[in-house]
Amino acid sequence: MNSAHATNFSTEFWPDPAAMRAEVSHIARGVLAGAAPQIDEGRYPLDIMGSLGAAGAFSPHLDAFGARFDLALEAMHEVSRSCGATGFLTWCQDVCGLYLEQSGNPALTARLVDHAMGRRFGGTGLSNPVKALAGIEPMLLRARKVKGGYLVNGSLPWVSHIGAGQYCGAMAAVEGDDGKRSHEIMFLIDFDGCIELKPCPEFSGMEGTSTWRIPLSDYFVGEDAMIADPARPFIARIRAPFILLQVGMATGVIAGAIDSMRDVEPALGHVNCFLQDRPDEIQAELDELTGRVAKLVAAPYDGGKDYLMDVIDARAQGGELALRAAQSAMLHQGARGYLRSAAPQRRMREAQFIAIVTPAIKHLRFELDRLMREETPQ
Ligand SMILES: Cc1cc2nc3c(=O)[nH]c(=O)nc-3n(C[C@H](O)[C@H](O)[C@H](O)COP(=O)(O)OP(=O)(O)OC[C@H]3O[C@@H](n4cnc5c(N)ncnc54)[C@H](O)[C@@H]3O)c2cc1C
Repeated sequence: MNSAHATNFSTEFWPDPAAMRAEVSHIARGVLAGAAPQIDEGRYPLDIMGSLGAAGAFSPHLDAFGARFDLALEAMHEVSRSCGATGFLTWCQDVCGLYLEQSGNPALTARLVDHAMGRRFGGTGLSNPVKALAGIEPMLLRARKVKGGYLVNGSLPWVSHIGAGQYCGAMAAVEGDDGKRSHEIMFLIDFDGCIELKPCPEFSGMEGTSTWRIPLSDYFVGEDAMIADPARPFIARIRAPFILLQVGMATGVIAGAIDSMRDVEPALGHVNCFLQDRPDEIQAELDELTGRVAKLVAAPYDGGKDYLMDVIDARAQGGELALRAAQSAMLHQGARGYLRSAAPQRRMREAQFIAIVTPAIKHLRFELDRLMREETPQ
């Protein structure tokens, strides 16, 4: 536990693991599984997110709630097994909670309980800055120092799990009067009426994730909204937990794909046995991945290079296995899996999303290459 940033809540808030597991499973396998096709096509499931929050799905990884990353990943796995889009919303909510808590800013930690219990909702707009800090693309938001804070300008192309009354973490490069960039700040954007969210182009799936473009024009960031100034040390600290938590989306989608393969075994097993990536094979690989992750969850703030490389590698393994598992489930189910409302073809698009959401598989490999070369200078 990172006690430097722990907020002093009573342990009465800590989720009871058995009760949390049972309730999250009940929601995921019941109402969420039924709603998954509509969520894929645009229904933003805030009501279901509220129930998951009340069940304790969004709090276990937080220091103030016991720092149980294993439980947070279990909850995300169970949600993603039924609906990858809601699994992604769970990850957004989880990392936004991490920003609020790890900021150590009393104005933000005061908002933590409502967030962790799913009474308030918020996402994360860090894809661009994470890629910008890695040198992959330019930083899109710019900040200028003014009395009492900063004015931010620019536009973030697609940020999910936001809407009226919600919020998200974001980052901007600070520019001086001469246009030179000195450092970056990380802050919370509140969507309280002064920002007009712009629609995104239609995606091929994940449409219920409430994903918008955020245009900022002289948006004021005061001390109450500051997550980190400067932002780089903060990003270095949360980088591994940020990536590690995403593995829960991947393992859930993989488990859902295995479910779909097994569903048709009585009817099609005699011919499906000629396919590659059979359910037992994918399950064995999933078990191996889950075993790796079980070791990593014990020290999410480890900070060491070896640890970070292990986390990145596990996340890449999860993304790659999700793609293979989803494709195999489609082949196992055949035409019934190809129906517009069928889980296997929806899961193909969910797995593709896991492979491209930041850090995308290509970005993970880029980071691994960079870290390996740092270890063995030419
Ligand atoms: C459904 C969905 C939800 C997302 N939710 C979030 C979120 O909550 N928070 C967040 O920070 N990011 C979010 N993203 C962005 C995501 O994490 C990736 O950054 C994005 O998919 C591009 O990643 P990439 O590394 O593959 O970049 P590349 O595909 O290699 O693209 C490089 C750059 O070009 C831009 N680009 C590519 N195609 C287009 C296009 N057609 N129109 C405009 N720009 C384009 C990309 O934004 C990217 O910055 C979301 C993306 C999708 C599809």
